[in-house]
Amino acid sequence: MKTVKRKKTTQKRRTFYVTTPIYYVNDVPHIGHAYTTVAADVLARYKRLRGYETFFLTGTDEHGQKVQQAAARNGIDPQAHADRMVVAFRELWSRLSISNDDFVRTTDPRHTGVVQEVLRRLQAAGVLYTASYEGWYCLPDERFWTEEEVREGRCPECGRPVEHISESNYFFKMSAYRDRLRQHIRRHPDFIRPETRRNEVLGFLDRPLEDLCISRPRARLSWGIPFPFDKDYVTYVWVDALVNYISIPGYGRDERRFKKWWPADVHLVGKDILTTHAVYWSTLLMALGLALPKTLFAHGWWTVDGEKMSKSRGNVVDPNTMAGEFGTDAFRYFLLREVPFGQDGDFSRKALMIRYNSELANDLGNLFSRTLSMIERYTGGRIPKPNARTQKADDRVLAASARALDRTVAREMDRFSFHRVLREIWTLVDKANRYVDQNAPWELAKDGRNIARLETVLYNLAETLRILSVQLYPFIPETAERMASGLGWTTPMDRVRMPRDNGWGKLKSGRTIQKGRALFPRMENEPSPPQPVPGSQKTPPKEMPMESTGIEPSTISIDAFRKLDLRVGRIVSAEKVTGADKLLKLAVDIGSETRQVVAGIATKYTPDEILGRSVILVANLKPAVIRGIESRGMILAAGEKEVEALATFIESVPPGSRVK
Ligand SMILES: [Zn+2]
Repeated sequence: MKTVKRKKTTQKRRTFYVTTPIYYVNDVPHIGHAYTTVAADVLARYKRLRGYETFFLTGTDEHGQKVQQAAARNGIDPQAHADRMVVAFRELWSRLSISNDDFVRTTDPRHTGVVQEVLRRLQAAGVLYTASYEGWYCLPDERFWTEEEVREGRCPECGRPVEHISESNYFFKMSAYRDRLRQHIRRHPDFIRPETRRNEVLGFLDRPLEDLCISRPRARLSWGIPFPFDKDYVTYVWVDALVNYISIPGYGRDERRFKKWWPADVHLVGKDILTTHAVYWSTLLMALGLALPKTLFAHGWWTVDGEKMSKSRGNVVDPNTMAGEFGTDAFRYFLLREVPFGQDGDFSRKALMIRYNSELANDLGNLFSRTLSMIERYTGGRIPKPNARTQKADDRVLAASARALDRTVAREMDRFSFHRVLREIWTLVDKANRYVDQNAPWELAKDGRNIARLETVLYNLAETLRILSVQLYPFIPETAERMASGLGWTTPMDRVRMPRDNGWGKLKSGRTIQKGRALFPRMENEPSPPQPVPGSQKTPPKEMPMESTGIEPSTISIDAFRKLDLRVGRIVSAEKVTGADKLLKLAVDIGSETRQVVAGIATKYTPDEILGRSVILVANLKPAVIRGIESRGMILAAGEKEVEALATFIESVPPGSRVK
């Protein structure tokens, strides 16, 4: 008989349980759904990298009046309607590389049975009572409002007309938990985040807390979970929905499993549903004698091109379209890079395009492709061996930065500061790009005596890229996999563990690289705003009457200077002009567009050397045709007859920034 040797361990494995809200199955998935779910995915992937056993739960909310009505309109039963609608969510999550461990549907028996068990336990605990309820009811929102809350006969939330309803219902004694909840929030600064939201909830709890109506008469609503002890009622959808956070990990079904995952580490929610989570959910948990989740994080909302997103405006952002156009990873990157998590933000295709071209295609994509090209060209397509004797100070700086990044990422991830994590990662990308320029491998390659140094430089670049692939994996998983395998690193990303695998020097020499297609092929910008029409700028009069004004002939007025439109440009492609030794044809990204420029710099720079450089472009220079090629703008350089040095920047600046 085969005996399996088991390592006995008493140490509890570190676990991480993260949830998204369950999405209303009637909705068409939009950017808001994608945002929460991508953020949860980033956290889950990151924790897995850190060795946590992770449970990532998302799903759909399938009961309620609106589902019942929509099904009736389509002439099918509500379950069939839900089965049809849930597909859009499942497909989107697969398209966006969402790595959820489970998917809950509130019509799933795993869930419905637990909701009934929860109601039984609340009943047994004596926290439910029946009372006749009179109030104003908003049908689309499925909630009651008090007399004071209703605004001129309309719902204070959605503005639609409310109706007066009087009926008997089950109530949960939520009011009894107000003080305990306030105390919990005060004692646990991490419970509600960010801080502003925590203060809002505390403000809400300064007012008296009412009891919560948790049932709906079956006569009015049949599409819900039946009350286990009263066949005339179904469960209020919010109570039904919130219970998913405990039903799926096993509450009332599998106590051992439940203990392993509960309390959740973080419930991610949009700010509009924070109160229901912070107040309804917390007090229900208290009544059940369960611990509260460690953190409720409420993120902000997206506007679109500065406007509120709405169906009537027709500006709802379809994540499928964005992922289709820019790629899943670029869309994921943009969502988390553009706006600090927790704040409101604005989505625009243009902003996505700019980040795509400058940060993904240019900074990261070029670093990767030029490093691999040089390894292909100079070391036979194999990862070279670093040579200790050829070490230089900037090698140590690069290695130290890669190591330090790990600590910064860990700190900022724990704060949900995704945009900072990405910014820090890009600091290393920038450093590596500068390292290429400073060490000029193409120069080293010219002299056989520099081969050892060349190999060290290329190794350092490859190793930096490998470490970047690990740090980027939670955000842009597919790209990270491609980077790692391109570098000949064979450990699959889901087996990679930090910090074990992202220490400096883990990349083995001798491995064959695979260049593959570009990580982020450049995309053409949209048509640019109209440029000054050539010829509309009057040529200056032949003789400027400067002397007569008493101004030094060598000075110009500030107004004259301001007429120059100087822009930061990034060289995104460069090639020689055939038959002209001095000329390079460049594509220069200036943020809003890419300009073709012919520059007389070929005596000083090869196309390889200047690719990715930031330059200063005179953007409003009259277009000219040089050797049959149109040139729109001029780049600034030092040198009398021959170019000696391009004017560039010490810090990294986004293309399109004005120089003044
Ligand atoms: Zn309403």
